[in-house]
Amino acid sequence: MLLLDGISSWFKFKLILFNDISVYPIVCQKEKRQSPIGICKEKAKSAFIPPLVFYYYNFKYKVTVENNGQTLIMKIFDDSCVCELPTVTGGNLDGEYVLDNIHFHWNSEHTINGKRFPLESHLVHYNKKCGTLENAMKHPKGLVVMAVMFEIGHCYNPKLDNILSTTEMISNKLNKPREIDGGLIIDYLLPQDKNKYYTYEGSLTVPDFNETVQWIVFERILPIGDDQLKRLTKIQLKGSPIKSNTRHLQDSNNRHIYYATDKITAKKIKDYIKEKFRGGC
Ligand SMILES: [Zn+2]
Repeated sequence: MLLLDGISSWFKFKLILFNDISVYPIVCQKEKRQSPIGICKEKAKSAFIPPLVFYYYNFKYKVTVENNGQTLIMKIFDDSCVCELPTVTGGNLDGEYVLDNIHFHWNSEHTINGKRFPLESHLVHYNKKCGTLENAMKHPKGLVVMAVMFEIGHCYNPKLDNILSTTEMISNKLNKPREIDGGLIIDYLLPQDKNKYYTYEGSLTVPDFNETVQWIVFERILPIGDDQLKRLTKIQLKGSPIKSNTRHLQDSNNRHIYYATDKITAKKIKDYIKEKFRGGC
């Protein structure tokens, strides 16, 4: 995962270290819930989890895309509009989470059933109660990151066109955001079927590796054309391509990884309710 906030201290740190992942294990030796992890469907615990509820993901926003030296990162800017930012709630989330940014990793950070994908997008959300991304990073239930895998398909994905056409304008242009022509509907970057996903408690995948992230990794995969992937990942910094922005897999430490599915038995629903309200009055 990747966060942004101008030239913050982690950003400067990460500019130096991003391609030196050998540093990571030293930082994380004492930690127990680091990300990313390898997800195995057979080992994940099928669970009844109420549907996620999305607000404003179908609204067309004005969005900028920026080359921050590590990836392409997109943020909504809509000072001309008083509308709300996209938020997600429901599922097993503790409250409402506001979308802060979307960015990409090539190759994927998570693996599913041993497979690493050519591209993974992260939609980074912060808990509305925390007010800002920075505050949320310190809170145990501060962040929700949705991860979407992309696979090279037979045809190209027209929903990525707006992003790609702007991407080429920011190659070698560090921290100079450009507005995406035609705006962006955030839902275009999510699978249609949002009821099947893996979820687990994890961390940021960049320093300071805060263990404050509820991960939602969708099972459904989005297509991307071979040429589109090349256009997206040929973005450069100081004349050289950004070669690696993927953290290596972390130990799951026997964490519970839940698989949310709409195909579920009455017994599992009963178990979920029992567990959810355990310890209540
Ligand atoms: Zn990321």
